[in-house]
Formats: sequence, structure tokens, C-alpha cells
Amino acid sequence: MAGLSAAWELTRTRVGRETPRVIVLEAGNRVGGKVRSTEFCGRTVDLAGDAFLARRPEATQLCDELGLTGALVAPGTSGASLWVRGRLRMMPAGVNLGVPTKAWPMVRSGILSPAGLLRAAVDLVAPHRGEPQATGDRSVGDIVGSRLGHQVVERLVDPLIGGIHAGGVADLSAEATFPPLLTADRRPGSLVRALRRGPSPGGLAPPPDAAPAPVFWSLDGSAARLPAELASALAVQGVPVHTGVAVESLARRPVDDAGPTWRLTLAGDADAVPGTAGSSDSVRHLDVDAVVLAVPAGQAAGLLAGHAPLASSLLGDVEHSSVTVVTLSMAAGSVRSPLVGTGFLVPRTSTIGGRPALITGCTYLSRKWPGLARTEDELIRLSVGRHGDTRPDSLDDDELTAAAVAELGAVLDVAGRPRASMVTRWDGAFPQYRVGHLARTATIELAVAALPGVAVAGATYRGVGIPAVIGSGRTAARTVLRSLDGAAPARPGR
Ligand SMILES: Cc1cc2nc3c(=O)[nH]c(=O)nc-3n(C[C@H](O)[C@H](O)[C@H](O)COP(=O)(O)OP(=O)(O)OC[C@H]3O[C@@H](n4cnc5c(N)ncnc54)[C@H](O)[C@@H]3O)c2cc1C
Repeated sequence: MAGLSAAWELTRTRVGRETPRVIVLEAGNRVGGKVRSTEFCGRTVDLAGDAFLARRPEATQLCDELGLTGALVAPGTSGASLWVRGRLRMMPAGVNLGVPTKAWPMVRSGILSPAGLLRAAVDLVAPHRGEPQATGDRSVGDIVGSRLGHQVVERLVDPLIGGIHAGGVADLSAEATFPPLLTADRRPGSLVRALRRGPSPGGLAPPPDAAPAPVFWSLDGSAARLPAELASALAVQGVPVHTGVAVESLARRPVDDAGPTWRLTLAGDADAVPGTAGSSDSVRHLDVDAVVLAVPAGQAAGLLAGHAPLASSLLGDVEHSSVTVVTLSMAAGSVRSPLVGTGFLVPRTSTIGGRPALITGCTYLSRKWPGLARTEDELIRLSVGRHGDTRPDSLDDDELTAAAVAELGAVLDVAGRPRASMVTRWDGAFPQYRVGHLARTATIELAVAALPGVAVAGATYRGVGIPAVIGSGRTAARTVLRSLDGAAPARPGR
């Protein structure tokens, strides 16, 4: 998404009097990277992200530019449960990324034990001086644990924020994953009150009679329609997207040469890429003025190694965690528990069937997206794996499915086996935003900015969600344009 978005931004801008000639090179055999769908039981289902945050403007703005606003669909249901203290409990009202801001809904939910509630309530009465001038980062778990106690961390904040990043909040940067928490922690007084006072998303209160705005959007058909439609729109603009072509290396061309600055060495189906030249050993080269490296951290580290050693080393140090998605078709009537909301999350400290839970969450797919509903079945998606849990690696797909289905059966009243199942492994898919992540990102960006016409983009840097990576691709495109344009601000084109 980041690379396609960078290309899109480039088609809408001029360098001097010209629109840049843009080529997208994609190592995989299809576009979209982690935004991907497939056919399952006669329907198109997303294999990774199935929705994007409505609060951030980048994805909806892109949909608007692609003429897809009419195709936006909101989930058919809302709310989620937590598997805590041996049963499913609805997430109470007023929870801000796991931090409770309303007392009574929290008390009634039963998520915290009486001792956990008392500990959290200390925040409302204990003096906290605050440090408004403080700078620097802390982990989400450290802040919430010290202010509200470990139960709020383990049962609420870790499943939500840790779930989004497939990480643990003990290590995740507050600055990068939940900036209002860091700001609230620096204010004097209660953390909960400071978060409650924070601006509403978008900064404006909705009119009192307005229907609640959706928190997430997807596209009619699947979220993966977005990269597919974007690639088609790029083709219309004359921007080819070459799949099956990997950039193997990046070399600086001689500075005294008036030609393009960079030489890319390509692998794969590179003969099809216009403008390539071959050398004696039939390696294909492509000379370009500028490059947006919209690839995961490890690949970016390799490509930058000879040019920006510090950036390369910082990128090489980014840890990643893996997630596996198990999609199930359960025969109609076989799930006898009421399916309320979009699904449930499983805190890492919860057990299922007396053992540490393998599944981290469950989406009632055909309830969340009514377009997927059929009379014959219930589509359910289980997420397995989080940072530090290596158990999924030692299980083959059948074993993993059996273990995940057994846990589902311990949470919900399920009769019989799935009609069909599908396992999708996302190895190393989630960069871990450790404490100090944004400072390291700034260092990487600064080091890369010293290379003429090069910028980095994608989930490694300033947000893992689809809107954030779209924004990062577009920002990277403007950065390379400024470099090509002699640092003049990029002007919008058509
Ligand atoms: C299971 C799962 C669930 C998710 N759920 C959501 C969700 O609900 N909502 C949400 O907003 N986000 C979600 N995300 C996160 C989001 O989908 C990703 O963070 C985002 O799509 C990453 O986009 P990207 O462009 O940065 O990277 P990628 O999608 O990883 O794209 C990078 C591309 O670079 C290509 N590439 C790599 N090396 C080279 C090379 N040398 N030459 C050429 N090409 C190369 C790769 O093939 C790949 O296509 C989820 C992710 C996963 C895995």
C-alpha cells in the first residue's frame, strides 16, 4: 500500500513542467502486499487487514480520489468482548485503547477483580505532580501499570494495543503507538481524567442527533479492493506495476555522469520492465533519478547498507512478530452461543481449557461484514500468535487449526467441526515499535534524506495501519519530488 500510494502521489504532481515517469516494482506475484484477499467458500475474504480506521483521513481520502467513496462499507455490528476470568465480557463503554475512562461501565463489566478496580481507582485520588516539560518515551505498559495497576495492562490495554501491533505493551513505545497516553501521563492529576478530557477524534463534537460515525471502514467486496483499484488507476495514468520483479541492490551512478543518479539491479521477471538494460551476465539494470523504498525493514536495511550505514543498521535491528490467521466456515447452527459484536480478544494472561491461550482474538466475520453472510454457515476468523509466543511455529497447519478450533470450542458453544478452514501465516509481518521508536525513525529518515532522491515508506516507520502506510507513501513521494525539484515545494498536479 505504501509503494502504490507513493506512485499515486507522484502521478498527481509535476517536477518543473513534467509529470514524473513512475514505475512500481513489486517482488511478489500480486499487488497489495499485506492487504490481500482470497476466495473462500464462494466469498472474497480478507487474509490480513479487513478494515481501516475512519478517524485517520488518508485511506478515505484515497478512496475519494479513486471514486470509491460510494463503495465504503461500515461493519454491520460493533463492540467486542474480552475473554477474562473464565467468560466473555463485553468491552465497557468509555475505554480508550484499553484505558477505562468511565467508572460504572468498568465496574459492571467484571473485567477487573475487586482488587484490580481498587488499584485502578487509586489514580482518581492519588496525587500526581506531572512533568509537563518532560520529553522522551516510555512503554505503554510502564505508564498504565504505574498509574492504574497491572490488571488494566494485562486485561485491557495489552489485548487492544498489543493486539494491533502483535506485540507486548511492556515494550511498545507510548510515543509511537498511543501518543495521547504519554501526554496525559505528563499532566498533573489523574491519568483517566486527562484521557477523558482529550480532544474527540477529529477535534469536533458530533451534533447531538447525529448517528454514531463508524470507527472503521472497509470496501464493498473486501479491503483488498483498495490496492487492486489503486493499481488499476495507476495503469490508467500510465504507471505500470510490475509484479514478480525484486530490486536486489541500489548503486550510486558516477557523480560526474549527467544521467540518472541511481542504478537498480533487478531480479525476477525484469525483461518486461521498460527501460532496463542488461549486462554481460544478463543481470537487468534500471537507471532512475529517485527511489521510494516501500519495503519492510529487513529489505530496506539491505538496500541501504552501502549508502546509509546508520539507517541500515537501525533498520536491521527492528524486531518483527508473526501472526497466523485461521479462517473457518462453521455450519449454520453449529455455533450455539449468541455472537455479540464483532468478536472477542484474548489477553495473554488468560487461559483457555486450563492452558495459556494460543488464540489472541476471534472475528465473527459474517456478522462484522453482512455481505459475507450466507444461510449455510458462519464465517469465523481466529488470530493466533503474538510476540514471544513461538508455539505456532512448531505446529503444522492441520495441528494449528485443530488447536485453534479446540480453543474456540472452549470459549463458545460449538458443535461439530468446521466445514472448511484456511491457514494464512504472516511471518515477521509486524514491526515492533519499541520505546524510542520515533527517535530512531527520525534518525533513519535524516540519514536517508542525505541520499539524493531516496525516501523510505511503509509500516516500519510511523504507524502500521493502512491509513498510516498510505500517508507514509505519499509523504515519501513528496520528499523525493522536493529533492528532484531543487527543494521547491511539490505542486499539486491534476
Ligand atoms: C494479519 C494482519 C492483520 C492486519 N490487520 C489490519 C487492519 O485490520 N487494519 C489495518 O489498517 N492494518 C492492518 N494490518 C496492517 C497493514 O495491513 C500493514 O501494516 C500494511 O498493509 C503494510 O503495508 P506496507 O506497504 O508498509 O508493507 P507491505 O504490505 O509489506 O508491502 C511491502 C511490499 O514490498 C515488496 N517487496 C519487498 N522487498 C522487495 C524488493 N526488494 N523489491 C520489490 N518489492 C519488494 C513485498 O513483496 C510487499 O508487497 C494487518 C496486518 C496483518 C499482517
